[in-house]
Amino acid sequence: MEYEFPKAKEPIPSAGKNDLIVIAGGGGFIAGNLAAYFKAKGFTRIRAIDKKPLSEWYLVTPGVESLCLDLSEEPNCRRAVEGAFEVYSLAADMGGMGFIETHRIDCLRSILINTHLVEAAFRAGAKRYFYASSACAYNTDLQKDPKVRALKESDAYPAMAERGYGWEKLVSEMFCQEYWAERGMATFIARFHNVYGPYGTWIGGREKAPAAIARKVIEAKDKKTGKIDIWGDGSQTRSFMYIDDCLQGIDRITHCDELVATPINLGSSELIEINQLVTIAESIGGVKLERSYDLGAPKGVAGRNSDNSFIKQVLGWEPSTSFRDGLEKTYRWIEKQYADRKAGKRNVD
Ligand code: NAD
Repeated sequence: MEYEFPKAKEPIPSAGKNDLIVIAGGGGFIAGNLAAYFKAKGFTRIRAIDKKPLSEWYLVTPGVESLCLDLSEEPNCRRAVEGAFEVYSLAADMGGMGFIETHRIDCLRSILINTHLVEAAFRAGAKRYFYASSACAYNTDLQKDPKVRALKESDAYPAMAERGYGWEKLVSEMFCQEYWAERGMATFIARFHNVYGPYGTWIGGREKAPAAIARKVIEAKDKKTGKIDIWGDGSQTRSFMYIDDCLQGIDRITHCDELVATPINLGSSELIEINQLVTIAESIGGVKLERSYDLGAPKGVAGRNSDNSFIKQVLGWEPSTSFRDGLEKTYRWIEKQYADRKAGKRNVD
């Protein structure tokens, strides 16, 4: 690890079923699913916050308090965490490569969210604070080959993160670590590797590769074009984590005292080439399409995978949903969204 922070001397309290859990970014993909996850686990007081109007939230779970607040503003952060026992920071202006390569300023401005939220959580006396970081925080020099060596936690430094989005994540991680080191609020940091699944962005420009490819296959079938366009030459590799694994991981990491102030990979270690992703999506859709490669499109680093040695060592667990199984569920969900939209119904985008 790059820095060693002191471990907790005493057990850190965890939220009981009637303590307040606050989830920032609750109108989005992962945080929306996280609110539903905690609700299903029996937590009775969950507050989800997002700047989007409620009508645009991907998932609204009955019984979860849903607030519309812009968390880049400090007074709103104070309001958001009033009475919080645990805080989950997942609000960010983000998207797939098409977004983060062209909206670096928007991505950098997410620093305001975590800066104000972590301070507000500290002042409110929150016991555990989770921060959603990203594999984009890793040194990009190590990701120039599609047959990449999997990234381990120490690979973030010396730093050469993804411009904009990755640097914002790295600095926010540092904030979280110092709130533990200097002020004693227990913070937990996961570096997510591409998360996908139902209730995620699938259209509009912010979607990531699995949803984008699934949608393109569905569209090609519907419009009978027989063709699919692919960003880059298709040789880029990534690992993709199914949403259920991500939720489990967030819960396990946030409640592992040994991991206080210690960034950890949360991702699948199954490396998938984009061409392979297309083949899997075609087989789920029962079609074979002619591929055309857009070499000028945003494609990000050549390769990226998650080294899961550390998470297996500390938690005895790692994300394990196979990509084929996860994509099948995601494909079926997008297919339904696509059909609903075509029929004139309003749905998630
Ligand atoms: P998402 O875009 O679906 O959700 C983020 C939510 O944050 C959105 O609903 C957005 O409206 C909200 N938000 C943005 N600015 C806000 C503000 N100022 N105040 C309040 N809400 C605001 O994204 P996601 O995929 O659910 O990602 C959640 C977190 O996980 C983010 O921090 C993201 O950077 C991180 N992450 C995601 C992935 C992934 O593959 N999805 C990978 C790495 C890291």
